[in-house]
Amino acid sequence: MALVVQKYGGTSVGTVERIRNVARRVAKTFDDGNDVVVIVSAMAGETNRLVALAEEISEFPNEREYDVLVSTGEQVTIALLSMCLQSMGYNAKSYLGYQIPMVTDKAHAKARIKSIDDKKIREDLKSGTIIVVAGFQGTDGEGNITTLGRGGSDTSAVAVAAALKADVCEIYTDVDGVYTTDPRMVPSARKIEKISYEEMLEMASLGAKILQIRSVEFAKKYNVVVHVRSSFDDSPGTLVMKEDHEMETVLVSGIAYNKDEAKISIFGVPDHPGIAAQIFTPLSNNNITVDMIIQNVSHEGATDMTFTVPKGDAKKAVQIIEEIAANIGARGVSHNNNIAKVSIIGVGMRSHSGVASTMFETLSREGINIEMISTSEIKVSCIINAKYTELAVRVLHEAFGLDHKEIEEN
Ligand code: ADP
Ligand code: ASP
Ligand code: MG
Repeated sequence: MALVVQKYGGTSVGTVERIRNVARRVAKTFDDGNDVVVIVSAMAGETNRLVALAEEISEFPNEREYDVLVSTGEQVTIALLSMCLQSMGYNAKSYLGYQIPMVTDKAHAKARIKSIDDKKIREDLKSGTIIVVAGFQGTDGEGNITTLGRGGSDTSAVAVAAALKADVCEIYTDVDGVYTTDPRMVPSARKIEKISYEEMLEMASLGAKILQIRSVEFAKKYNVVVHVRSSFDDSPGTLVMKEDHEMETVLVSGIAYNKDEAKISIFGVPDHPGIAAQIFTPLSNNNITVDMIIQNVSHEGATDMTFTVPKGDAKKAVQIIEEIAANIGARGVSHNNNIAKVSIIGVGMRSHSGVASTMFETLSREGINIEMISTSEIKVSCIINAKYTELAVRVLHEAFGLDHKEIEEN
């Protein structure tokens, strides 16, 4: 007998018929002799609808009330799934975040989980009950509802699996695993059998929205093996797990893209010690995360700096930077929302050279200009014009031998 944690995403619970389908899967796992804890998202499109309502009411909605609103989608699905299981003759019980409680910090809309009390869940499991937990939400421990950021049900699931020391954490979604790149963009993308936490973390951080970044961090920290698979069929999915020797033999495991960033440049910055802090500290004080940064070689005591920020923060960031530019005597500021970041990821890069140059050559053959570059041990990212995103992902996918056909021929 095992303890199985299963998470079902929005598409998987998108209609009553799909909720019935989920209930059948959950029931089967229970009938096989397992304890089952299920985490569910809101019905597909519901969280977007709620966010849009908040934005209609106010340009900057109160954060506490925003979380009260957007957490309601999951309340609907836990109740419906529990009712459905009960109508099939099973004991099932739903829990909202605060009822467990799942305690987070106070950062509304991007809260981080601090602790999960497993007492009630364990008691219910002992009495043969299937537990259905609302994903995406928690409580700050002072009676306020918090949410974990978009896609946060993945993190709820992995955190619950870690807290309960579950044997498996299965993430059921609308694709049957993690692919070499988004299969909706590149149909020749290939399913990856197993991927290391590090690579999955990079993929998620660099834009692959299949798993929330925090969920992978949790999995890595607590060594939870995550099985990403489809709720619509029984095919084996992808195991996200500790790196093994075999993984290093693959040069590039995946390609990710992100169109959610904007680029800001500040020109003619007087080049002296402390200038970077003067520019970037006000941004971090305003909770704006800066991603890539490039500083040009200084020329006659002045330099140019370019960096990227999330598109949603771009307006505020430009405002802040324009003020700073005036204060420090910089020549000017420009910004561009029309960019994309394309990245190649693979632990094999640590031990192989020439990967970055293959990327640059491949993009140049298509006439795609690289505006910024950043690298780490296991990834190379390039900022390009957003209109070339799909083309860049496709040609890189082919250049690194990731296409489905090519693999079969080998
Ligand atoms: P859920 O609602 O189940 O959480 P998501 O929409 O959050 O589902 O995540 C699944 C989607 O992630 C897929 O439909 C797919 O388009 C997208 N995706 C992006 N990159 C990848 C990738 N490398 N492998 C698989 N899916 C990916
Ligand atoms: N319902 C939430 C969202 O759409 C959480 C999730 O689906 O994981 O972001
Ligand atoms: Mg998701």
